[in-house]
Amino acid sequence: MPEKQHSTGPAYCDFCDRSGIVFNKHFGELGQNALVPCPKCVVPKCRCGGEEPYYYYENGLIKSCACRETMMKIDRILEIYANSGIDKHYRWKRVDAFKVYSELGKKAKLQAYETVKKFPDVSKGLFLWGNPGTGKTLLASIILTELIIHHAVQGRYIKISRTFFNRLKATFAEGSETYGMSSKIEKEFADVDVLVVDDFGVQRDTEWEQETLYNLVDARYEGEKFTVFTSNKNPHEEFKDLSGGRVLSRIKEMTVIMELSGKDQRESQ
Ligand SMILES: [Zn+2]
Ligand SMILES: [Zn+2]
Repeated sequence: MPEKQHSTGPAYCDFCDRSGIVFNKHFGELGQNALVPCPKCVVPKCRCGGEEPYYYYENGLIKSCACRETMMKIDRILEIYANSGIDKHYRWKRVDAFKVYSELGKKAKLQAYETVKKFPDVSKGLFLWGNPGTGKTLLASIILTELIIHHAVQGRYIKISRTFFNRLKATFAEGSETYGMSSKIEKEFADVDVLVVDDFGVQRDTEWEQETLYNLVDARYEGEKFTVFTSNKNPHEEFKDLSGGRVLSRIKEMTVIMELSGKDQRESQ
């Protein structure tokens, strides 16, 4: 998506890849934001001190600051990111954080890179499967992070676990805080631009759980929404009987299925 050039806004430079925004690698130590306005093309023109609402006074008039468009975009991205649900261990990890130890890893990383580069002109999401510890969650989180940073898309991460189903179940229990919210929650997962479904297929003890997962996959499929799945299971084998094969056939149509097996990344970190 090309950057909209605001008439009073700055002409962006190559340093920030013409986005006006740069990633602040040391944000953690410094207690700053992970994204900051470009020090070369935005900051020098700023006259508001980077303070909300990004206006300044001149000759008694309130004027829109040159940083305003960039700062508002940063604010929007940070808000989306804060609500994305990405696990704290994987937050703000960029593509370079994924280390390649195998041919499969190399392929998956390349696919992730291409996807981020071409988005939103991508016809399929990604289904990453393989043994635990090969960096599937990391890579899926990186894709989500990059898409939010580059495109300010609404993105969410969910982990399919006992907790996930229990939370959803609580929405059916009268008196629970979330009572009656199941359809709202499910709609949110169905509608969000980009969804990461981590650990897909680990819980399928009951028909209701199977149905819930199928409905989620189906809703993403129907809405032609970009989805990244991770799983410890080989979908071709483990999902062929799930919901009578419906789940696998949907997944095949909506994602590029990639194996990511091999050495445990966590041991070498
Ligand atoms: Zn710049
Ligand atoms: Zn300013």
